[in-house]
Amino acid sequence: MDGTVLFTPEDRDVLTGLVGVDTARVWLDVAGNAGFVQAMLVSLQRLQSVNLAYGMAGGDRVLVEVARRIEHFVHGEMGPQTLVARTAGGEFLVASRQALSRERWQLLAETLARAITRPLMIDGERLTLAPRTALLRGQPGEPGAALLDRLDQAAQALQRSSGRRVLWADGSHPARGRSAACLEGDLLGALHRDEIAVLFQPQFDIVTGALAGAEALARWEHASFGRICAETLFAVADRGDHVAQLSRHIALRSLTVAATWPAPLRLSLNVTAEDFAVGDFAGQMRHVLTESGFAPERLTVEITEQTLITDFEACAAALRELADIGVSVALDDFGTGFSNFRALKALPLDALKLDRSLVNDIAHDPRDRAILSAMTAMARALGMKVIAEGVETEAQLAILRDEGCDLFQGFLRYGPVEAEAFAALAAAV
Ligand code: C2E
Ligand code: CA
Ligand code: CA
Repeated sequence: MDGTVLFTPEDRDVLTGLVGVDTARVWLDVAGNAGFVQAMLVSLQRLQSVNLAYGMAGGDRVLVEVARRIEHFVHGEMGPQTLVARTAGGEFLVASRQALSRERWQLLAETLARAITRPLMIDGERLTLAPRTALLRGQPGEPGAALLDRLDQAAQALQRSSGRRVLWADGSHPARGRSAACLEGDLLGALHRDEIAVLFQPQFDIVTGALAGAEALARWEHASFGRICAETLFAVADRGDHVAQLSRHIALRSLTVAATWPAPLRLSLNVTAEDFAVGDFAGQMRHVLTESGFAPERLTVEITEQTLITDFEACAAALRELADIGVSVALDDFGTGFSNFRALKALPLDALKLDRSLVNDIAHDPRDRAILSAMTAMARALGMKVIAEGVETEAQLAILRDEGCDLFQGFLRYGPVEAEAFAALAAAV
């Protein structure tokens, strides 16, 4: 039985839209009876000081943003058998029925913590909140209440310990960071052995349906962990200060592949705050463009607002340099979190890429459709294209077309595919 069956509207937290502790307990009961369950309790211990400094409204915004980051992470990195709940003020529960190893669960917890720790903006100020996470593997048939109790005790122990950020509630696991630290060591070898793969997600013209290009998405095929998704891969790279090296590897690989595609097809590359932090990002991109022989006019770099928060001026300068040589810039994950409208004016943006959370309910919820209309109208007024991602149904596609979006990608047509499969699609253009 899928956990979502248990969700009832009454149990949803009005602020974050997540389910509450009662639903979580029942979900854990069912999962425990069915077999395997693993859980983590993420606590924001500084929430009280945020409330004091910025008022309750400020605290609420932090909670909404943290809930969004958790959902985004879970959506991308964990399977459908995952529960996300807000169990208390600054406490979130993530639980999974997938049989994931302890190492993997800890790595997911560490990666999620990293996503939550990224700076956020309140009242024009940057704020960072490092969460603490208690981990637990449920015992067969263990009631939800007992499991939550054990997690709670571990969370309290974490609160008392000074440096520690992750703790296994059953005390069974080696000290914090072991899993990520191991992987960190493997990463350099993996780069060397070419185990970091790049998949290509096709993008289509929304009016003609013609193939327009692809977004490059990284994966790590790890010998013992199995496939490691992009966010975890980058978290591991970040711990060892290897982000720049990893990005360069992905950029060179994907540009070299894209250079073999027929001319109108474009490539989109994701870039992160760490990429800009290394110094001459624009120079590096120029270098890989030359090395691969891919025309800059066919490249789009995708940045997020999160990237901009970290160092707006450095990003803006590098993006202007890239725009000067013909590279396009798209603002990714638009419409989530704190939309920074300053970016729309100050940066050389060519496109807004609507987050899939904006696309999800457009066919059912008139308010979501109204938001979509407003976003596309704004993009048009600013002379930008609109790209929709996460398109999964024909109904969504029809609405996006009516609203005047330009490009789309999503499981409705293709998920990320191997280079060879994309080349076959491209050959048919
Ligand atoms: P993103 O840039 O928003 O990428 C889109 C994500 O949505 C991808 O997940 C993709 O597989 C997934 N997706 C695509 N179509 C659909 C759909 O129809 N429905 C649903 N539910 N999901 C869809 P992925 O590959 O796991 O990547 C996650 C994130 O990791 C990316 O989010 C991006 O922020 C980051 N990332 C991926 N590759 C790279 C990379 O090479 N460099 C950098 N810096 N970041 C990367
Ligand atoms: Ca992207
Ligand atoms: Ca996105």
